[in-house]
Amino acid sequence: MEFDLIEAIRARTLASRDDVALGIGDDAALLEVPAGRQLVACTDSMVAGIHFPAGAAPADLGWKSLAVNLSDLAAMGAEPAWALLALTLPEADAGFVEAFAEGFAELARAAGVALVGGDTTSGPLAVTVTALGSLPRGQALRRAGARAGDLVCVTGTLGDAAGALRLHGSGSADAMLRGRMARPQPRIAVGIGLRGIATACIDVSDGLLADLGHVCSASGVGAELELEALPVSPALAATFPAGEARMLGLSGGDDYELCFTVPPARIAAVEALAAAGGCGIARIGRVVAGSGVRVRDAAGRDVKPAHAGWEHFSP
Ligand code: ADP
Ligand code: MG
Repeated sequence: MEFDLIEAIRARTLASRDDVALGIGDDAALLEVPAGRQLVACTDSMVAGIHFPAGAAPADLGWKSLAVNLSDLAAMGAEPAWALLALTLPEADAGFVEAFAEGFAELARAAGVALVGGDTTSGPLAVTVTALGSLPRGQALRRAGARAGDLVCVTGTLGDAAGALRLHGSGSADAMLRGRMARPQPRIAVGIGLRGIATACIDVSDGLLADLGHVCSASGVGAELELEALPVSPALAATFPAGEARMLGLSGGDDYELCFTVPPARIAAVEALAAAGGCGIARIGRVVAGSGVRVRDAAGRDVKPAHAGWEHFSP
């Protein structure tokens, strides 16, 4: 049974990359890392009831389990190449696995990623994906590196997935917002383009304030954001009052946009990237000496969100 499931996954995710010397089927995969490049590795788990409701569409889960990992690679400036998939299933449900594999494969194909192995076990529904990619040695975008005077930028729009989650169950969530929650688009091309331009970068998974806070502490700096500059989608703006939409953008999670810092002299290169990358890039604030992230409204008053972002194990 387990082997039928593995075959169902393998058949749907067939992808050829000539750097896969040995893929699914042996005890481990053999991969060729090009000379002069560093391997970039990350893993992220999604657990039923914590990261997604038990009734979530399996194809969306397949897409998202890979997307959240490709977003981490994008935040490092890496080109994605390979993935491994550990699936824990309550039962050997072939329909679930087929739909899951199709959603996974849709993004894998679009991103040129080959699934090269994994593990299939029984237990409470959970998905762990490991993504691997590479970049030229020494060129990774890290959280440390932001300097006072840099501009703070973010791709796309913020708060859409959190807005969809807020409306979940009410049946009224806008289709665009639901799509942003179910099928986030990892900003792979922007991440690659930011090599040599950004001084620091992170992907926004836990909420902008929390994630930019990580950049600040890793870099030993603070940041000042302008509330009015946060990019909010027309759909979010139409669904929530302006103040609430911006709060979702500040501290709602699951955006999978890139937040990065860049010296003002390089902002023209960032604008060129936005034009080529198919998503907007907004300037939302500045890096300052000190620590922590402050947010000001149009009148210059400090804005204090009720919570900064998503955290596991918080009371
Ligand atoms: P082993 O017992 O040696 O760990 P498995 O029976 O777990 O082998 O897996 C057999 C092959 O199928 C391996 O190449 C493994 O990487 C692959 N595989 C198992 N589960 C998955 C999965 N969910 N997705 C992709 N490949 C998988
Ligand atoms: Mg195994």
